[in-house]
Amino acid sequence: MGRVFSDLRTADYGASGHLEAPFRVRRSFELLKAAGHAPELPPAAAGPGDAALLHGDAHWRALETGTFEDPDTPKFPGIAGLALLSLSGALSAADAALAGAPAFSLMRPPGHHAGKDKVAGFCYLNNVALACARLQAAKPDLRIGIVDFDVHHGDGTESLVLGRPGISFASIHQSPLYPGTGLKSRENCLNVPLPEGTNGDEYLHAFEPALERVLASKPDVLAVSAGFDAYKDDPLGGLKLDRATYRRLGSLLAQTGLPRFAVLEGGYAGDLPRLIESFLGGFF
Ligand SMILES: [Zn+2]
Repeated sequence: MGRVFSDLRTADYGASGHLEAPFRVRRSFELLKAAGHAPELPPAAAGPGDAALLHGDAHWRALETGTFEDPDTPKFPGIAGLALLSLSGALSAADAALAGAPAFSLMRPPGHHAGKDKVAGFCYLNNVALACARLQAAKPDLRIGIVDFDVHHGDGTESLVLGRPGISFASIHQSPLYPGTGLKSRENCLNVPLPEGTNGDEYLHAFEPALERVLASKPDVLAVSAGFDAYKDDPLGGLKLDRATYRRLGSLLAQTGLPRFAVLEGGYAGDLPRLIESFLGGFF
């Protein structure tokens, strides 16, 4: 059985009308708990030193003082601490994966648009990239495959892992769409842009060879940026995946037999909790 890490303090902040809203964690927590997943508080406590593995000192100071600027990414009070809490989930999920249990971090804010010195697209710290950097800091020879199935290109992650030894990254995303990048692959970063209207079967047809490419790099562990905004009813994306597609994505990742962990990125439809449940039905 897999492990779910969550902390409802990450469901206690928000801005009225913002799509990256508390229900994403709160209602998903309730549904997963009812389904027997028993979310646990993350045992790994992230600190500024973990953020500094990939982000600049100025970036951390900007989070603490609210002196960053991005129209999509609000200056919530205490956001630096909340971002660390979210990172704690990713670090704990990574540790659990290496210890033998597939794991999922159900936290917000998300992370895959955050770069070395920038917040962007609702993201403050790059949870997945930092979790991978921490694993490699402990085990320098560890090889990691990162798969990002959020509907948006994982531009922050790409910027942080490009050329990094032992990392292979694949992002499968809609294009054109925010942030407008991810049209071409380079070095260890594979980009698979898909047109608006792509359905679940067409998506899987593109996803499977992307996963194969990542597996060809012989990873010891898989890290997954699990965004659910490629869902057919998502207000931000234009792809047409359904619940069954997410279960299938989870199964394909599980069939690798590799240690694996996933971290919540986007996903803004009211069905998000059920999409996560379906994904974990395959992933665990
Ligand atoms: Zn997204």
